[in-house]
Amino acid sequence: MTDCLFCRMVAGEIPADVVHQTDRVFAFRDINPQAPTHVLVIPKDHHATAGALAEADPALLGEVVVAAHAVARQEGLVSGDGAEPGYRLVANTGPHAGQTVPHVHLHVLGGRHLTWPPG
Ligand code: AMP
Ligand code: ZN
Repeated sequence: MTDCLFCRMVAGEIPADVVHQTDRVFAFRDINPQAPTHVLVIPKDHHATAGALAEADPALLGEVVVAAHAVARQEGLVSGDGAEPGYRLVANTGPHAGQTVPHVHLHVLGGRHLTWPPG
């Protein structure tokens, strides 16, 4: 039993709108989408931040990025071997960046022009 929201979603204890998964990675739609496509990609194992994951299991971080790209392709955000129309990956880390769930997640955002810099 864990009190981590995303671990509980991986375990099937809390519903998730799953769009892609592998043996080690899980991707589901954000409940409060900020763009036409807004998917969260996480490792099934619990790691708090992207940096912690990179230190503990760099290959798994690579698998998370590969899965994010696969989601982008599935959602029509990239075509062929190109990067158009494109998408954004975000890994909020810590309170200044607004991280609210302490289980590393890549936001995959796309489907509209995204402003830069973010707020
Ligand atoms: P962050 O603020 O970067 O930690 O991102 C956490 C994200 O998790 C937010 O965009 C939330 O909308 C999203 N979220 C929280 N609870 C759920 C849930 N039950 N299902 C899907 N997404 C969620
Ligand atoms: Zn977790």
